[in-house]
Parts: sequence; structure tokens; C-alpha cells
Amino acid sequence: MNIYENTLAKIKKLADLLIKIGHDKTKVEELLKILSFPQRIIKVFIPLKRDNGELEIFEGYRVQHNNFLGPYKGGIRYFPEVNEDEIKTLALLMTLKCSLASLPLGGAKGGIKVDPKNLSEAELERLSREYVRKIYDFIGPDKDIPAPDVNTNSKIMDWMVNEYIKITQINADKNKLLATFTGKSIENGGIEGREEATGKGGEIVLNKLIEKMNLNKNELTVAIQGFGNVGYNVAKFLYKNGYKIIALSDSKGGIYSEKGFNPELVMECKKERGMISGCYCVGSVCDSRLGKDITNEEILELDVDVLIPAAVENVINKDNAHKVKAKIILEMANNPITEEADEILNQRGIIVVPDILANAGGVIVSYFEMLQNIENRKWNKEEVFQKLEEYLSQAFDKVWETSQKYQISLRNSALLMALDRLLKNFK
Ligand code: GLU
Repeated sequence: MNIYENTLAKIKKLADLLIKIGHDKTKVEELLKILSFPQRIIKVFIPLKRDNGELEIFEGYRVQHNNFLGPYKGGIRYFPEVNEDEIKTLALLMTLKCSLASLPLGGAKGGIKVDPKNLSEAELERLSREYVRKIYDFIGPDKDIPAPDVNTNSKIMDWMVNEYIKITQINADKNKLLATFTGKSIENGGIEGREEATGKGGEIVLNKLIEKMNLNKNELTVAIQGFGNVGYNVAKFLYKNGYKIIALSDSKGGIYSEKGFNPELVMECKKERGMISGCYCVGSVCDSRLGKDITNEEILELDVDVLIPAAVENVINKDNAHKVKAKIILEMANNPITEEADEILNQRGIIVVPDILANAGGVIVSYFEMLQNIENRKWNKEEVFQKLEEYLSQAFDKVWETSQKYQISLRNSALLMALDRLLKNFK
């Protein structure tokens, strides 16, 4: 089974429960049938003239999964393993995520099959602009609004929106056109706090969960796999909040210290060394005696209270799900746990906070960025984080209450609530 089918299987299992909570059987079946297919798959081939003069062609996608709740929304990733099945799955998750977060947005995802580390900055810019030239007809503030994802950032969004405006500018309102992309730099219409938003959202959701579980954050240990935008920011916020971050990793490997790392110092060290390995930064110092190196596999099996996969998909699967020792898993990556692993973890009583809730902070603040552009006003970071907390608290509370009421996992509850809202908007 491919991952799209696998993810669909998770939602199809909820049909009976949807009927039980009052939805019409035929409507449930029809919705599930519709969600089984994305509304549109755009596949493009992007020519790039390399700095050495050679022409190379890259494969790219934009999958528009569903727009019952509003224009399509979702990130664009640059990753060597990008393929249609993966982007379709992530687009489906965006439909569910936006629904659960009560946003007036649908779900999409895009990607280019490329390792951006092998491109110069000039090549990266040409590739990003050319991708926009291939998909511009299908995007726009009322159609589809892309954003950053794995290996993409505000600089890339700035190039993309600039290219989009160049192509479509005739008689259009520039501010509104800026809302075609979110996750832009502040100077270019971006919103305060967007870069930190996914991490901040993770902290908000985890705080809410441990409150329900009567746990004390000052006694909890945390391991985080992935030290990109999401992994770094969630580490930073949790550290500031009193959690002890005893393990961190990036794609090249991880670090461990019983004393607990200071993520901001680790990031400074990583920038200097080019990798996290050896960055044993505790309190205000980095010292080789304060920690040790571990692998990306070992980090998932550590004896910690909270495990946070914040990198890529399928890292917890049937081979290692039995070895996970954490009590809580906060899914900051999209789809980090396979369907089989999810069942194993469930049976073992490990609480999994699903991606569509745990990492929804990013798209929620993206929505605020769109509003800021369209309404032509500026929000400050305090306002952004306060509103983010309102949206996420509301989503968390309904997921928690529903899971208690029907005695189902947080994942099933989150999916159920997402489908419930889609059904209410499906004629
Ligand atoms: N890429 C992020 C996600 O997976 C953010 C999407 C957005 O802001 O549109 O949720």
C-alpha cells in the first residue's frame, strides 16, 4: 500500500463514528469517496541552467487536494525524495489540518525533487522562480496559497511572490497579490512570528496536554529529532518554558546530555560547525565534557518523557515502534509515524499528539499573514501569538473532549473533528 492509501485508511475507519455522531450515512460515504482523490495534481518539469552552463530538468508538483472550506493552502518542500504519492498525502493532511483549526482554507502541498544543498544560491533562486512560472495560473489569494515547508524559507517565498507579481501584475492590488504566498520576510509583507509559529504552536499544545495529564513540565525530559525551523523553535520554546531538552539531532546525527541543552547556544554552535554533532551546549557554555553523540535512530528510542519527531515522514515504523520508550509523542513533522507503528504505540499506551494538531501553528499564522496582506494592516508578535493560542486551544479542547467522550486516541479524535467540519460544509 502506498502512503496515500495508508493515510486514507486511517480516515475511512472513522465512518461509523461519524454516523454515530449524527452524520448521514450517504453523505459520509460520499465525502470519504471525494477525499480519496485530490481535486487536481499539477506535475511540472522545471528547466534550470546550472552555474556551469549545463541544463538540468527538475520534477515538481502542486497537489490541490480539497477546497470545500476555502482556497487551497499548504507548503512547498525541496527534498530529493519528493514524489507524487508523498505530496498527495501531505496535501490530504493539509485539508484535515485546516479543517481542524477552523480556518477558511482547504488543503494543498507542493514540492520539487531536489537536494537544495547541491545548488548555489543563484541556482536556487532561478529554480524557485521557474517553478512559479510553471504553476502561476493555478495559484493566487483566492485560489491556492503556498508557504514554506521542508528546506524552504522566507527568502524563497520572497523570490516566488516577486516572480508571481511580475507575471500577473496588470491592474492588480499589490498587497492582495502578496497574499498569494505566506511565510514571506517581514520586509516583504510577512508577519511577525511566522517563522517561530509552528514551534510555538507545539509548545502551546504540549502545555495543554500535560495540564490535562497533571504532569509538571519542570520534571519532563524531551528528545527532538530534527533541528530545522520547526525542531529548533519548538526546542527553544520548551527550554524557555522549563522542559529539559536532553537530546537533539539534525540530518547528520544527534547529541545527548542528561543536564539538558540550551537550544539557542546549540544553534550558534551548529552554524559555526555546520552540524549539531559535538555542540554540547548546556546553560551558558559549550564544552566537550557535557554530552555525547548519538545516532538519529537512537534518539527515537531514548528513555524520555516526550519524544518530538520534527524532521521527515515515517521515522517511527513497525521496526522501531516497539522500542520507543517515551510516554508522549508530539508529531511536529508531518506523518512521522506509519499506520502500523501508530497501532503499536496505541496498544502500548503511548500518547500521540497528531501532526494535524501539533504542527498546525504554522498554517494558522499563515492565515493571519494573508489577512494582514488583504486588510493592509500590521499585527505585532504578541497579537499573533495570542490569537494563535486561541485557535490552538479551541482545537485542542475539542480533540481532547471528543477523545475522552468516545474513548478514542487523540489522532482519531482529531481526524474525526476535521471530517465533522468538512461534512458540515459539504452539500
Ligand atoms: N508547511 C506547513 C505545514 O505543513 C505550513 C503550511 C502553510 O503555512 O500553508 O503545515
